[in-house]
Amino acid sequence: SRERLRLPPWLKTQIPMGKNYAKLKDSLKGLKLNTVCEEAKCPNIGECWGGGENQTATATIMIMGDQCTRGCRFCSVKTNKAPPALDPMEPVNTAKAISDWNLHYVVLTSVDRDDLSDQGSNHFAQTVREIKKFNPDIYVECLTPDFRGEEKCVETIAMSGLNVFAHNVETVERLQWLVRDPRANYKQSLDVLVNAKKFNPKLITKTSIMLGLGETDEDVMKTMEDLRQNGVDCLTFGQYMQPTKRHLKVTEFVTPEKFQHWKEVGDKMGFLYTASGPLVRSSYKAGEFFITNVLN
Ligand code: SF4
Ligand code: SF4
Repeated sequence: SRERLRLPPWLKTQIPMGKNYAKLKDSLKGLKLNTVCEEAKCPNIGECWGGGENQTATATIMIMGDQCTRGCRFCSVKTNKAPPALDPMEPVNTAKAISDWNLHYVVLTSVDRDDLSDQGSNHFAQTVREIKKFNPDIYVECLTPDFRGEEKCVETIAMSGLNVFAHNVETVERLQWLVRDPRANYKQSLDVLVNAKKFNPKLITKTSIMLGLGETDEDVMKTMEDLRQNGVDCLTFGQYMQPTKRHLKVTEFVTPEKFQHWKEVGDKMGFLYTASGPLVRSSYKAGEFFITNVLN
């Protein structure tokens, strides 16, 4: 059908803001930090910045610019084959800005930089090192590009001092061609996660899958099995939302009950945690889950 699906009630609810939220938002003023939480108007900002029960505030910061060399069909980031040069001061400035912030867990993510010889991996790793230098107690998760599978780039990130190596397979194997840029693929993304652990066995690995793109239950089961077999530790499921008319349509609004089902399947399969819900995003309460399910 050419009609857009109507938004179901569970995607219309208002989420309350946590205690820490106002404080974080205040301290962000004046800092030149690109938070995905604010840019994407993420509905979880209250929960993530608020820190929840164990007071572990999480935020996601985007580095290496806001223009991507790729054009995935689900993503609203601007495409540019030749984005502006990297800002050499970004690693240290990001680290300093974070120290003025009451943050316990930071997710660092970036656009893909196929235009750079190292695909930005050294800049990414440098940012992690600076963050740890200025904020020794903070946990760092890197949500990385696939680096076209180049092991050297994966190694650079894996050895940078991060705690969690995240890379998203985004969707099931059968729909990769439809959803992701042609330079990305399922096997390559699985290999990135395997290689991260090969270079640094202490790392926790993590991936995310969007639902509502036309995948079947069998597709999802197969993906979860592949992930477990490749040693992936943590998993998130969220609803795909079409960012603009030019992007892929939503095939289905998956019910909260179905998301709960996948969480239970994930728990049985032995993932350290499976965060699953209509509004869950890759970095959803990542700090809280890390403290509760990984450290303890
Ligand atoms: Fe930020 Fe991610 Fe939480 Fe959204 S889910 S508020 S982007 S940390
Ligand atoms: Fe968006 Fe990442 Fe795809 Fe770039 S590579 S278009 S940032 S999803």
